[in-house]
Amino acid sequence: MHVVTGNIHIHSTHSDGAGTIMEIAQAAARVGLDYIIITDHHTLKGLSDEGYLEGVLVLCGSEINRAHHHYLALGIKNEIAADDDNPQSVIDAVNKQGGVGIIAHPFEKGSPLVLDGITYPWHDWNVVGFAGIEVWNWSSQWRDGASNLCKGLYYAYLHPLGPITGPCPQALARFDKITRQRKITAIAGSDAHDWHINRGPIRRRIFPYGYLFKTANNGLLLQKPLSQDAGEAKEQILTALRAGRAFIVNHVVAEATAFSFTITSGDNEFSLGDTAPLTAQTKLNVCCPSAPRHHTHITIVKDGATWLEHKDNQCSIKVKESGTYRVEVRLKKKPWIFTNPIYVR
Ligand SMILES: [Zn+2]
Ligand SMILES: [Zn+2]
Repeated sequence: MHVVTGNIHIHSTHSDGAGTIMEIAQAAARVGLDYIIITDHHTLKGLSDEGYLEGVLVLCGSEINRAHHHYLALGIKNEIAADDDNPQSVIDAVNKQGGVGIIAHPFEKGSPLVLDGITYPWHDWNVVGFAGIEVWNWSSQWRDGASNLCKGLYYAYLHPLGPITGPCPQALARFDKITRQRKITAIAGSDAHDWHINRGPIRRRIFPYGYLFKTANNGLLLQKPLSQDAGEAKEQILTALRAGRAFIVNHVVAEATAFSFTITSGDNEFSLGDTAPLTAQTKLNVCCPSAPRHHTHITIVKDGATWLEHKDNQCSIKVKESGTYRVEVRLKKKPWIFTNPIYVR
């Protein structure tokens, strides 16, 4: 498997972001990302810029809907109209184009300091057919934490990581509930806009693109190295996302060099997004060789509940029950790696 790392959910000057796609690609190249996915509101103008820019694969999708039910539509060719009150129609329209649709920041709470406290949550969980959930939106989480002027100032000037705690627990719980029934993909989104905040005494660029590109990124497992042909490379990225061959890595904490989570059964090895058979030899293996052993805490979640806690940088354990298994790793208690599941059936 070949791992590529990139950032998803980015706004450019084609909607309400402050940077051009070229500037954004330059910021991504400076921090060494392999790919980025731009998702401007209600436009696919960025499609004409798709391809390799500054050595970074730049893909363009769109973020659809306004007041609520924000939906990231990746891999679509034609713009899809907003339909805030009928998110199913938007999900269906994305699927009809063969796109990958992801529910964005479903449980954000907002802050009175930003956009007058407006939030864009997801209400309708009767919908079907979406491909994934953005379980961690860095910008939303930061904003949720800046709940009053005092905290806003503190987080803006002194402690920008203060509100950052890892994926949204409610979104993860929803993800776990759904993945007991069917496969979907969890991603992290930066929601990068390069915000310029001018509110009372706070005048600050909180999150330039280059900053957010060093936070929660998405590692994707590819069968072959990322193609230098942009069209083929796009298919590789979308295929991995659709299949859940993805894990979130918080680069503020560390690189996830050579991290792996597999389930083995005899000579067969299964990876993120795969379905492994339950046999007498089925074993679950986690390895983060780059992390110091005594500071690494592995949590294995089965069907939404903690199944195993292990204070080491690796573990290997027999699996005796079918279920949906995913891994969380904390390094020095900080949220670091969050994988998609392997399904044992
Ligand atoms: Zn949004
Ligand atoms: Zn957004």
